[in-house]
Amino acid sequence: MSYKNFPMVPRVIFGRGSFNQLTEILSPKRLNINAPFIFLVDDVFKNNSWLTSRIPLSYDDKIMFISSKEEPKTSQVDELVEGIILNTKDRPSGIIGIGGGTILDLAKAVSIMLTNDGETKNYQGWDLVKNPAIYHVGIPTISGTGAEVSRTTVLTGPEKKLGINSDFTPFDQVILDSELTKNIPTQQWFFTGMDCFIHCIESLNGTYLNTFSQTYGEMALELCKDIFLKDNLSDVEAQEKLMMASWHGGMSIVYSQVGVAHAMSYGLSYLLGTKHGIGNCIVFDHLEEFYPEGVALFKTMKKKHNIILPQGICADLSDKEFDIMINIALSLEPLWENAIGKKWKKIMTPKKLKELYQKM
Ligand code: NAD
Ligand code: ZN
Repeated sequence: MSYKNFPMVPRVIFGRGSFNQLTEILSPKRLNINAPFIFLVDDVFKNNSWLTSRIPLSYDDKIMFISSKEEPKTSQVDELVEGIILNTKDRPSGIIGIGGGTILDLAKAVSIMLTNDGETKNYQGWDLVKNPAIYHVGIPTISGTGAEVSRTTVLTGPEKKLGINSDFTPFDQVILDSELTKNIPTQQWFFTGMDCFIHCIESLNGTYLNTFSQTYGEMALELCKDIFLKDNLSDVEAQEKLMMASWHGGMSIVYSQVGVAHAMSYGLSYLLGTKHGIGNCIVFDHLEEFYPEGVALFKTMKKKHNIILPQGICADLSDKEFDIMINIALSLEPLWENAIGKKWKKIMTPKKLKELYQKM
């Protein structure tokens, strides 16, 4: 038996207002005056001086506002990297991602592709990255994905939706300032928060579970229950707890895997562009068979927060389109093996999967 040896985020700062310490964190990391820091910032903050005025810019440092309407694509990473190479005198000192999972994943991918040749799509998979990434910092502004702590960056490429899973992917520094997560619209807060809840359920009910994953998963699940089922938390407490739930949920899947909801949601995302958080919710709502207790809890949370999920998104799909989705979902073998076990192919046939998609 050989155990996997995982890297972790080596530095993290947690605290309300810790975003103000960005200058002191970055200054020692500047390589020279021609090597700028590039800030990739969700464009939801474009006219938000409360946040942007605190981004320290000197020399050639640059803010690039990026839309998170669509999830990151390998071609988008290629374009960003090309733009950065063309417009900077030296290789950047660092890439700082400020946003949700979309922007955090872009920041990780760009920092990898600045030091690795060729196209981003060639690195989708496991341990294909050869050179260490440049210094990269993650600053989440919405909690749930665990992207701030994970060893992957999920990208849609021409052939697949698959992460760059590598030892060079995790951030060198993360700043957890829950104040940045205030003012998120309720629906989005719920969808991204449920990503964390679903990570916990899929990890804790998976065949890959070990004590490392279990302890983190249980902690995150308890936090999710406090946040989404009870009424006794202040806004600040709820924001801080969700930030830590996201972190622990992400840690839980380091050593295990996600499961049925994620595999199916990747299919939806690839074909229909359904975003991760809402896609997971749409799928998970129909997975009683696999996660009875988790789905029951989910339905209670959904009701409590008056969330209405889209219905019938697969109603008008052709057989060919179903096949595309099914192939994407079934290609994620580790997820199925974790969810159902080594003999998963006997249980999750293309026909069965189609029946499930037809309910959505
Ligand atoms: P997101 O980054 O797509 O953002 C969702 C929405 O929230 C956007 O409209 C954004 O503008 C808005 N938003 C973000 N912060 C806000 C704030 N403070 N105030 C108001 N609005 C705000 O959403 P997400 O759910 O965090 O991320 C989803 C992405 O994360 C997907 O691309 C998914 O593949 C990826 N993901 C990655 C990992 C990983 O381990 N790398 C894990 C899970 C999901
Ligand atoms: Zn997820």
